[in-house]
Amino acid sequence: MADIILRASHVTKRFGGLVAVDDMSLDIPARSIFSVIGPNGAGKTTFFNCLTGFYRPDAGTLVFDGRHVLNGLRTDEITRLGIARTYQNIRLFPNLTAAENVLIGMHGHLRASLVGMVFRTAGARREEAAALAEARRLLAFVGLAGMGDHLAKNLSYGDQRRLEIARALATRPALLLLDEPMAGMNPAEKDVMIAFIRRLRDELGVTILLIEHDMKVVMSISETISVMDFGRKIAEGRPDEIQRNPEVIEAYLGRGAAAGGDADGGSATAAGPGAG
Ligand code: ADP
Ligand code: MG
Repeated sequence: MADIILRASHVTKRFGGLVAVDDMSLDIPARSIFSVIGPNGAGKTTFFNCLTGFYRPDAGTLVFDGRHVLNGLRTDEITRLGIARTYQNIRLFPNLTAAENVLIGMHGHLRASLVGMVFRTAGARREEAAALAEARRLLAFVGLAGMGDHLAKNLSYGDQRRLEIARALATRPALLLLDEPMAGMNPAEKDVMIAFIRRLRDELGVTILLIEHDMKVVMSISETISVMDFGRKIAEGRPDEIQRNPEVIEAYLGRGAAAGGDADGGSATAAGPGAG
């Protein structure tokens, strides 16, 4: 495993005349917790979409683990290399159970393989039992022990977010991209999620690339923070460096805020600037 698990060099993605991601370069150290922040529309999700093969960058390169060029690969190929993600807008199969949603993760996000499991052969049954046991183990790991038979749509919002992570973990990623995993959570739920994300890194050795709006969360969990605004990286550093960076404060709070005398990060730590 290379020390830099993901290197993005000059990645650009345009939609017509709009440059959604503009010359983004990032080096993500293996086993780190790395956050990307920035106002709404800054290009964070689009950057994730380039990384996971949903979009092809118009320029730039993405290299995983020092040797795999991701440009041009399909999403399933990228998943197989060891990159998994969750979505800003939860994407589960609402009418399948929690365990089935995780099984789909194991089978490369293909519903067809689940259908295939229904018409199973005797030989496939042992494999299926092992997969189900693994799904239940993953559910327990994310805090959903005993919930395997619940329909996804009947889970609470926080539990659906946890289920998304279990599904992503089912692909055994080395790099996990979390797109606003704490959106809609209350402070107590966020604290649980923060501890959980740390466990992912500490116990599974997974590198975490996080998009998150809540500055308190970002500041407490991240080793490195990269700040995007209008598609570009405007700052990068440790939380304490980012917190007092005038350009960052201005991007979040608008012109004048940085000069307002409260540049010690007090205002920048207010929850969710521009988070609407
Ligand atoms: P963020 O996740 O930082 O809020 P996004 O990456 O979702 O920002 O969006 C960045 C910019 O790209 C926005 O202006 C958004 O409207 C635009 N955008 C995102 N996806 C598309 C798309 N598929 N087609 C056209 N414009 C898009
Ligand atoms: Mg987004």
